[in-house]
Amino acid sequence: MIILRNLQDIQNWVSNVKKQGETIGFVPTMGALHAGHLSLVGVSTNENDQTIVSVFVNPTQFNNSEDLKKYPRTEEADIELLKDSGADAVFIPDIATIYPEGQFAKKFNFGELENKMEGEFRPGHFDGVATVVSRLFELVQPDRAYFGEKDFQQLRIIQQLVRTEKIPVQIVPVPIKREMDGLAMSSRNVRLSPQMRVEAPKIYTLLQEAKAYLETHTVSETKNYIEQLFEQTNLNLEYFEIADEDQLNSVYEKDASKKLRAFVAVFADEIRLIDNLALN
Ligand code: AMP
Repeated sequence: MIILRNLQDIQNWVSNVKKQGETIGFVPTMGALHAGHLSLVGVSTNENDQTIVSVFVNPTQFNNSEDLKKYPRTEEADIELLKDSGADAVFIPDIATIYPEGQFAKKFNFGELENKMEGEFRPGHFDGVATVVSRLFELVQPDRAYFGEKDFQQLRIIQQLVRTEKIPVQIVPVPIKREMDGLAMSSRNVRLSPQMRVEAPKIYTLLQEAKAYLETHTVSETKNYIEQLFEQTNLNLEYFEIADEDQLNSVYEKDASKKLRAFVAVFADEIRLIDNLALN
């Protein structure tokens, strides 16, 4: 596996791959890699001649400077994991390579999609995400790019980004990878205290509870019930939403023609965790 760090490195690699007529699968990450990231790599290696993973903690998508400072950085371990993952290259750019004109997010217009859930509680987050992803697409020129359903709203934002900006890349969603106890894998999980590590799997338990309860109750009954159940945990609920999977609009009535999904964000002490589950 080759390690690429600057503009020259990535440009040479991409131009060589393109010269060979090979396809590029791309997995953008912020590092602190775990089996969830590796499942994206696995799907990419099956579908492409070359798979490249980027590791870049993007400052412009953090609306909380403490969160950015404490974000786990484990470059050596990441490289070791990737060596065994089947990835062909890892791109670990510095700030200047990603932000040649200064470290700021461009303004995008994602309409309704950017003002709810993660967009509401993390102002500016999706502008930062779209800025870094569009720059990475420009540098890596992938045929396909892989995004986890763990960050479902981000997946929808990126799909909208490539549509409106006409970026010629296929966005491939990958299902959420969970720990044995149901907790969605996340780079942030290593920061959980032992007590909160025991508490956090309740997120998934309550998502499953929501799915079961909705079968015999209305959407608003289900929302109220699940919010109550979260109050009985030591997790601090930021939002619990039931939305349609396509547009992520809040749903108030059950509608068999719509695919529904439950979305949740909690604080486990000061660690923010998100998860979601398809309901029908
Ligand atoms: P991150 O490093 O957290 O920015 O994540 C990089 C990519 O990995 C994103 O597309 C995430 O949605 C995806 N990802 C993170 N955790 C998981 C997981 N548990 N299952 C599937 N994909 C994940």
